[in-house]
Amino acid sequence: MAKIAVGVIGATGMVGQNYLRLLEGHPWFEVTYVGASAGSAGKLYHEAVANRWLMPTPIPEALRNLTVEDANVIANVENKCRLIFSAVSMEKSAVAQLELDYAKKGLAVVSNNSAHRGTSDVPMIIPEINAHHLEAISQQRKMRGWEKGLLVVKSNCSVQSYMTPIYALIAAGYSVSRMIITTLQGLSGAGYPGPSALDLVDNTIPYIKAEEEKSEIEPLKLLGNVVDGTIVNAEGPKIAAHCNRVPVIDGHSACVSLAFDGVRPRLEEVKQIWQQFTGLPQKLDLPLAPRLPIQYCSENDRPQPRKDRDRGKGMAVTVGRLRPCPVFDIRFVGLHHNTVRGAAGGAILTAELLKAEGYL
Ligand code: NAP
Repeated sequence: MAKIAVGVIGATGMVGQNYLRLLEGHPWFEVTYVGASAGSAGKLYHEAVANRWLMPTPIPEALRNLTVEDANVIANVENKCRLIFSAVSMEKSAVAQLELDYAKKGLAVVSNNSAHRGTSDVPMIIPEINAHHLEAISQQRKMRGWEKGLLVVKSNCSVQSYMTPIYALIAAGYSVSRMIITTLQGLSGAGYPGPSALDLVDNTIPYIKAEEEKSEIEPLKLLGNVVDGTIVNAEGPKIAAHCNRVPVIDGHSACVSLAFDGVRPRLEEVKQIWQQFTGLPQKLDLPLAPRLPIQYCSENDRPQPRKDRDRGKGMAVTVGRLRPCPVFDIRFVGLHHNTVRGAAGGAILTAELLKAEGYL
């Protein structure tokens, strides 16, 4: 089977580098196009990332000498690929327009950026939670006059660490009414170079711009329904988020307290629900799908970023510290790898889902 040609815009950044690393040897996709800012355009990829390639493996050999294009010049992509992974850091309205322009050009766009997360005809996908939102694509294409183009986005990078285990409980029939989440977010989530070492060493920062707002609204879209081709947010649960930047390189943790409406699950049952949970990516046996999307740690001091972020090749969510909550009903800690499951890996899994479901 011929591989599907894909491009990465923002290819020189933290998320972009993870795309290139994770797509090396991918059975379905092959990177044929890399884009970044005008400052990197015209350089060979290895020149553009000289002194800032941060991955644990070398630059993929086949991409070292690919010329970086200016991601803002859509004509550059002509006939080079079928799908674009968007990981550019730009002003929000500029990214929003750029992604629409790529889709209008006939490309499938899968984005890490927040610009279109609130757009009602744009599915925001965590494949194990709301794969059915992809059905909004037919209306998206119809209303926007796109024949082959489409646009889907990923949720914020910390959301899957708590929403996957919470969704598993909802899917098992338990209605969550209220939740308080406190995130401890790794440095790579801020892109490269991120906050200065002088701000981070021996410190935590109790503020990440716009992160709490995203954490309180995005779960409602994930839990929403498609009505007449657009996604209507769920009305609950009620969410309060505290988001903190901590001196961890990779890995976002979330301390979560949950209150249920009506019947509450027993702790043993919660564990069982998590351990048995799977979604469409597992059913379809997608290349990047972890066999167990939620992994439970019974040790008192886990999950920990260094020890648990790479479970399921960085695609699993690890949960632990499940116990009663004296204020709400239950509490636990969730953790995932923010640049893999929370960024490039999560988006590649969505692209695999798009292919498996016939959208490419
Ligand atoms: P980053 O390390 O700062 O990389 C930014 C990328 O955008 C670079 O490739 C940069 O190219 C490119 N860029 C900057 N200005 C541009 C312009 N005017 N036109 C075209 N390209 C431009 O950021 P990142 O952490 O990879 O994040 C990328 C996106 O993913 C952001 O929207 C971020 O919010 C989102 N995200 C990040 C994470 C994470 O864990 N890091 C997780 C989820 C989502 P040059 O190298 O040429 O400057």
